[in-house]
Amino acid sequence: MTKRKTVDSCSFCGRKRSEVQILISGISSYICENCIEQASSIIKNELQSSSASISELRLMKPIEIKNHIDQYVIGQDEAKKVLSVAVYNHYKRITFNKKHAGDDDVEIEKSNIILVGRTGTGKTLLARTIAKMLKVPFTIVDATVLTEAGYVGEDIESLLTRLLQAADYDVKAAEKGIVFIDEIDKIARKGDNPSITRDVSGEGVQQGLLKLLEGSIVNVPPQGGRKHPDQKMIPVNTKNILFICGGAFNGIEKIIGRRLNTKVVGYSASKGHENLNKDNMLQYVAPQDLRSFGLIPEIVGRLPVLTNLNPLDKSALLDILTKPKNSIVRQYEKLFEMDNVKLTFEDAVLEYIVDKAIEFKLGARGLRSICETVMVDAMFDFPSSDNKKFHVTMKYAKEKLDSLIAEKLRAA
Ligand code: ADP
Repeated sequence: MTKRKTVDSCSFCGRKRSEVQILISGISSYICENCIEQASSIIKNELQSSSASISELRLMKPIEIKNHIDQYVIGQDEAKKVLSVAVYNHYKRITFNKKHAGDDDVEIEKSNIILVGRTGTGKTLLARTIAKMLKVPFTIVDATVLTEAGYVGEDIESLLTRLLQAADYDVKAAEKGIVFIDEIDKIARKGDNPSITRDVSGEGVQQGLLKLLEGSIVNVPPQGGRKHPDQKMIPVNTKNILFICGGAFNGIEKIIGRRLNTKVVGYSASKGHENLNKDNMLQYVAPQDLRSFGLIPEIVGRLPVLTNLNPLDKSALLDILTKPKNSIVRQYEKLFEMDNVKLTFEDAVLEYIVDKAIEFKLGARGLRSICETVMVDAMFDFPSSDNKKFHVTMKYAKEKLDSLIAEKLRAA
């Protein structure tokens, strides 16, 4: 047996054991706490610069982006196309402006996006899928929170706190991230209502949001919440942050209809008007409709890419259950597989679940809660059972859904 010689200095910097606090031994060498720290920061920097350049080095083409989204989001072809182009242009713009910084050249302006569509049609899913694909920091914020927080201008910055947190406080990464602002329609101006004396939820919030959308340096409270005089702020430049806003804009169909009708009256009955699809008026949405709904013109101007999501019909809902890479059915199969249980569904069950989602007016959002109601007892029992197969029959599904819980769903 060879006795190892006691080496009492760091193999990297040569400091003696007495000069350092910690000396960790390897097979034939030592490292001190100073060298570990230095190495760790080198690694961090290297990884940061390589991840920051991912989107710049390999800009995915719009078709590639759409193909990728197709794996996760059913239908919504128009929205996917518009989004793919917008995202491609956004990251191309960052690269272009960086290369041409200082030139008197054209500076390409940012194009934030607004998605209009009923709840549960995939707005958030689209934004999330894109951010995941690009590997950029991503956060979802609810515009209604900005309303509730009350006084304007102070709390809006905290929206970026979430992005910073998603980026592990790496400001550079956050500055290229994506923020999804949900329920943007809830901060529409309620101007016509005389009972509203202080419009904390409407125009004020929109004004605050405007400076974020435009691109400016914003002081962000690192822990969120209200600004506090003693809190050290982190300056974040929003110039390259892509904002994707989403909203259901309930009632906007009427505004669209009115606009289209006026046009028809104004000109001699225009061709094609009789072909309007009255069941899906959202597809005709235009920026002026958003203004009529109560968004201030400046905000509408800062969201130049406008597209809509279509309501999901029965076949789309069926596809959502089974087709996406991480479809709900696949997720349950996986969960059961972890307990070595083979899970299968009678075809009629899936149709039944979809019918219920439609009946309860829950859309795609309801699919999961209905599935959960059907599956919860089995998920409780199977992990402790010897039975290694579970075929969900129509009889079983009906029995579960006819229970009290289903009543609760209906009331929700
Ligand atoms: P929205 O933001 O429009 O209210 P979400 O994107 O949050 O709706 O959708 C809720 C859930 O419904 C998603 O997590 C997803 O499971 C499902 N879903 C909705 N639309 C689609 C779609 N077009 N393709 C696949 N799944 C969808």
